[in-house]
Amino acid sequence: MLANDEYGWVRGQYLRVREQVDEAALRANRRPEEVRLMAVTKTVEEALIREAVAAGADLLGENKVQELARKRGAFAQSEMHLIGHLQSNKAAKAAACADMVQSVDSLRLAAVLSDCCVKLGKRLPVLLEINIGGDAAKFGFPPEEAEAALAEIGQMQGLKVRGLMTVPPISGNPRETAIFFSHMHKLFLDFSGKKMDNITMDILSMGMSGDFAAAIAEGSTLVRVGTAIFGQRDYR
Ligand SMILES: *Cc1c(COP(=O)(O)O)cnc(C)c1O
Repeated sequence: MLANDEYGWVRGQYLRVREQVDEAALRANRRPEEVRLMAVTKTVEEALIREAVAAGADLLGENKVQELARKRGAFAQSEMHLIGHLQSNKAAKAAACADMVQSVDSLRLAAVLSDCCVKLGKRLPVLLEINIGGDAAKFGFPPEEAEAALAEIGQMQGLKVRGLMTVPPISGNPRETAIFFSHMHKLFLDFSGKKMDNITMDILSMGMSGDFAAAIAEGSTLVRVGTAIFGQRDYR
């Protein structure tokens, strides 16, 4: 595809995905405003990201903190969240430049990240990543450890827990994926019903290009979409 064509194309794709998000919300008897659309910009060049921003994208997601830091200055008006695994030795960078870390996946990372934020005099919004499929190859808290982790992270001065995030196991079976999303929603409602110190449960981040409509049907409040907006990623 010619580069020139790609620019208008991304704008159209973003608007189309936003429309599909709205329709999925309405089908689930939910209000479209209840579901935020994140444009996942990993590996995407700045000119194309600008097209998505021009189309209305106000929330960008990166999975590597170095890449987020590199793009931060060019998108100062946009909210930028880290959505990929963060090594503790890079926590200071995330604390300095991310508006939220959705991928808090261990107590050790939470503690280091919190210390970095305290030093910066800020409280960073975070989500707990849940390994809902018990997938050995994936990061995240096992569902049965999530409540204890929440209680502990709620005590950390540099962090503010806002909800949960998940990446379900890759499955060719939409029914199976829907069950994982439904399990996540149950956890989310369960934690929302408990009054835990310093914990707000207002974000349930789940759903990507292939399954965001299913995630919205099961209660997602934030979908993370890359490929459906920008096309196939080029990792070269
Ligand atoms: C890349 C990525 C996405 C977006 O995936 P697409 O299938 O391209 O929409 C969502 N969430 C996370 C954590 C990612 O790393």
